[in-house]
Formats: sequence, C-alpha cells, structure tokens
Amino acid sequence: EDCHHQQTVTVLGATGSIGTSTLDVIARHPSRYRVHALTAHRSRDALLAQCRRHRPEVVVLGSEADAGWLRSRLIEAGLAIEVRVGTEALVEVAEASEVDVVMAAIVGAAGLLPTLAAVQAGKRVLLANKEALVMSGALFMDAVERHGATLLPIDSEHNAIYQCLPTEHRGGLSRHGITQLLLTASGGPFRGWSAEELATVTPGQACAHPNWSMGRKISVDSATLMNKGLELIEACWLFDARPDQVKVVVHPQSVVHSMAAYSDGSVLAQLGNPDMRTPIAYGLAWPERIDAGVAPLDLFQVARLEFESPDEELFPCLRLAREAMSDEGSAPVVLNAANEVAVDAFLTGRLGFTGIGELVARTRDALPVEAASDLGSILEADARARHEAIAWLNRR
Ligand code: NAD
Ligand code: MG
Repeated sequence: EDCHHQQTVTVLGATGSIGTSTLDVIARHPSRYRVHALTAHRSRDALLAQCRRHRPEVVVLGSEADAGWLRSRLIEAGLAIEVRVGTEALVEVAEASEVDVVMAAIVGAAGLLPTLAAVQAGKRVLLANKEALVMSGALFMDAVERHGATLLPIDSEHNAIYQCLPTEHRGGLSRHGITQLLLTASGGPFRGWSAEELATVTPGQACAHPNWSMGRKISVDSATLMNKGLELIEACWLFDARPDQVKVVVHPQSVVHSMAAYSDGSVLAQLGNPDMRTPIAYGLAWPERIDAGVAPLDLFQVARLEFESPDEELFPCLRLAREAMSDEGSAPVVLNAANEVAVDAFLTGRLGFTGIGELVARTRDALPVEAASDLGSILEADARARHEAIAWLNRR
C-alpha cells in the first residue's frame, strides 16, 4: 500500500452512522488516506473524540457555543485544530484545494450546499446524502459533468448497481443493453403489518431496523418506504434511468444489495453482508479494492433469499416519490422537504406514523409544480414546502 499517493479526505457528517463507518475504514489504511476536515452539527463530544483519534486540520460545528467549548478542550489536549462554524465553513472544507475526496454524509437538505461545492470543485465525491441529489438532480449531474467530479454512490443499492453496470454507462440504460434496475428493499421493520397496527407505531419501533444500523431520519424513511422512494429518484439521476425502468423488489434478508437486468436475460447482482463499510471502501478505493473490515458473506448461514413486491397501498410514500420524479421540476424538492418536516414531527411526537405519507401528499397537493433548475428556485421550493407542511401541522 505504500506506493500510493496519499489521499486527503473531508468527512461531512463525520459523527453520524455513515461518518463513523467512513473513519473506521480510513483508519485501516493510514498510508492511503489522511483526514483534512471533519464536520458535525451538535455532537461536540463525539467530534472531540474524533479529533483525538484522527487529527484533522479543521473541524466544523453548527453553533458558536459548541465551537467555543471544543476550542477549549482541544487546547487542553494540546491539539492544534481549527474549529469553524456554519454553512460557509462546510462549503470551504468541501472545496479546499488540498482535499481529494469528500464523503457527503450530512443528513437531509442541510447537506446540499457543501455537497454541491465538492462537486463544483471537481472532487471525488462519495455520495451518501441522497436528499441533496433528490433536490437538485439535473443541476447536480450537470455539475458533475462540467467540473469533472468523480461521483461514487455510497447508498448500498446504488453502489451495488454501479458495480453491476459497464464502466461506461452514460447516455441512457438502453444504449448499454440494460432493461431494468432492480432496487432491493428490506421492507423495513413493519413489512406485513396491517393499517391498524401501522397507526400505533412509535419512534422507538421505527428506529429499530432489522438489518441495518442507521441514523434516526433514514431509519424512519426505511420504515415508511420513503427511503426506497428517495432511492428510486436517486437511481434515475445517477444512472440516467426513467422511473419505469427502476423496479423495487422487497428482499427481507438484505444480502442482495440490488441488481441490473440486461437484454440478453442476464441479471447481475452484488451481494454482501449488510454493512455500509463495503460501499464506503469501494468508493474510497475505486477502481481498486481494499479491506473494509467486513466479515465474509456466509451463504450457508443466509441459506435462503426471498423476493416479493412492495405494498404501495399501506406504504404510499414509495408511490408519492415515483410520482414526484415523473412530475419533475419542484416536485422532488417538495416531496423531500415535506418528508423532512413530517419525520421530525413524528420523531418528536407531533404526528403519527401514517401521518407522514398524509402530510407529504397534502403538501404536494397544495403547491403547484414549478421549474426548479437553478439553486435559487430549488431553495425557494424547499422553503415553500416546509412552510406549507408546518402550517398544516399547526392547523390540525
Ligand atoms: P446520522 O443522523 O447518523 O448522521 C448525520 C450527520 O450529519 C451527523 O454527523 C450530524 O452531526 C450531521 N448533521 C445533522 N444535521 C446537520 C445540519 N443541519 N448541518 C450540518 N450537519 C448536520 O445520519 P446517517 O444515517 O449517517 O445518514 C447520513 C446520510 O447518509 C443521509 O442522507 C442518509 O440518507 C444517507 N445514508 C445512510 C445510510 C446508513 O446506513 N446510515 C445508508 C445509505 C444512505
Ligand atoms: Mg439504501
């Protein structure tokens, strides 16, 4: 490994589930990767621990109060690490000239500006923050092209599909003999539940995912199937697919991470244990392969692979997302913003589980679809949808 040029990495959202897994992989390969910047929103204790362990040059936090606290702790520890605050600082550590690789692992719309900045600076961008791509699809993919960024999907499904596609896959799926992308879904913790049972779901139940350990927002999205809806939109942008070319397949074992079907009848799949360090290591080292710390897949222990179709009656978020992708313009922005408001309201006890899909649908119905091709109109559509969703919550 010593013959490699050492890559300098910024981890946006370093204290989260993906951020922590990224640092775990990086720490296994100290001669290959060096940390430039780590960022967190409020998790100052976790960020301090990461400063001790990974010795970044810069860290970013969400508030001056937390930054002041961290500066004092770093001085006590004898660590010369710059502590910065806010969105502008996030953008700067994403586009800094000394940075080669940016892991985009902030959750939600808050990650849009720094992730776009990394793309516009032509970095190798490891994309976990699917909401950023859902919001800005065309603008984002144009920027990748124009600025020569290397975009590697970290979402396990998209990483799997990427591994199953020919190296050159631009210009539409059919040009490369691909007929369909098969996006696998675990089905979430409530697969097979009745409407009555779903109405009683608590945040604790929604955040206990059977196969994956993740942040709270994506855990709720997995339970409503909105995560699969966001991933459908993500797949359309990443692989130049139409919504009808992406088929969602419920696969409770979460061992097949997704598939690509070809015109000759071949179906290529990527398999592995459900551990995000595999796609993260793939993105870091591509086109090479490195150890990710993941146990080898034991097929005899898995024994059985099952596949079924999703229930879009009980889980309307998947259908809402497909419709938003077909409606284009501001529709995916509105879908994402309304969902972020709804998930937050659910997690804080102000909205029932089945209210999430209802709030997303009502917000969509209340707002006309508008053009959203530039950053200004995207941010406006996001703000309008949040305003509308919060107003509905308050009116009830
Ligand atoms: P998480 O909640 O565990 O971590 C989120 C990170 O973002 C934390 O470091 C947090 O401090 C930071 N953050 C939160 N709000 C912020 C804000 N307003 N401004 C700046 N930073 C902020 O989330 P996660 O599970 O690691 O997911 C991160 C992203 O990766 C999400 O977009 C998610 O959909 C995607 N993703 C996650 C997984 C997974 O297994 N966890 C899998 C696929 C995709
Ligand atoms: Mg996924």
